[in-house]
Amino acid sequence: MPAVIDRVEAIPLRIPLKPDLPGAALWGAPIEAADSLLVKITTSDGVVGWGEAFGLYGTGLAEQALKELVAPLCLGRDATDIPALMDHVQRRLHVFGRGGAITYALSAVDIALWDIAGKRAGVPIAMLLSAGHRPRSLPCYASLACYTDPDRVRAAVRRVVDDGFGAIKLHESGLPAMQAAREEAGPGIALIVDAGCAWSLTQAQGVAADLLALDLMFLEEPLWPPENFGGLAELRRSTGLPVSSGENVGTVLEFERLLEAGAVDFVQPSPAKMGGVTELRKVFPLAAAHGVPVMTHSFYDGPGLLAAIQATAALGGAEGMVEWRWFDQQASIYGDALATTDGRIPVPDGPGLGVDPDPEVIGAYRC
Ligand SMILES: [Mg+2]
Repeated sequence: MPAVIDRVEAIPLRIPLKPDLPGAALWGAPIEAADSLLVKITTSDGVVGWGEAFGLYGTGLAEQALKELVAPLCLGRDATDIPALMDHVQRRLHVFGRGGAITYALSAVDIALWDIAGKRAGVPIAMLLSAGHRPRSLPCYASLACYTDPDRVRAAVRRVVDDGFGAIKLHESGLPAMQAAREEAGPGIALIVDAGCAWSLTQAQGVAADLLALDLMFLEEPLWPPENFGGLAELRRSTGLPVSSGENVGTVLEFERLLEAGAVDFVQPSPAKMGGVTELRKVFPLAAAHGVPVMTHSFYDGPGLLAAIQATAALGGAEGMVEWRWFDQQASIYGDALATTDGRIPVPDGPGLGVDPDPEVIGAYRC
């Protein structure tokens, strides 16, 4: 049955963090709330799909890109041929860049259309991506905010270890914070450090011995600038540190360059940043050809997270873990539907993304 895109609605959410773990920050900026940009698409036959654009403190930018540039190119067009629509919009907007807010907005549209496609077919997106066996849950790791102060880092680590997580990601670039986390977690917990592009190659080589002593599962985006693929390859070669990158890679061709360079031990495509399910699904076979596991990036907790879960369930290998942003916030977009147990997150098996946002949460935290 033909269906065209009738309505594209931006829904910014702001869910405050609970006050009991103060001092949360990201890249030097204090955070008091989880900001998200959801996108709700309605088709002419009345099907509703949900998407998400990467937001953090830039949700307004993605919202403007959606309203001014992306949505007008989507309205009235066939909702069932997603690759054709994505190609159309990308070609029309490529002069504004091949990443950033416009691509984040387009990613949200893509995810919403995949949600609609699954709902029309009556199956979860994972089944549209692969007919094979689908796990009912996936291993996940708790991805913490930056706390800098070692005592605060310890408190956050203790909370997630007590919650049953077997793997934790820190957003820290200071060694005292990392060392406190390893001490508090003990040797049995997998520890990941996202350095947020903190160092030059020489600086990273200078702290490599201390980082190796932390026995990290991987070190995420150690180098500035993030597209220094040759530098990442050299860091791996010269130190033996396991390295990951990919959340700031905007296109499949750039992923090919990243993998070709031998820059990573794990590759991290981010569905709400790099083009949604349509582009994400292409990274899995590409990474497999290079023998590199895909570890999706999802430092968000709406439809973008579900896109990562559905794709990992269908296409991921044994090593793939889901990033669960642990902000300790007052409410969750999906209520309890994605509650983690013993370090695993459910793969919801409803049609499309598997579950819709909780309307009460949307009503209470829409801004
Ligand atoms: Mg990161």
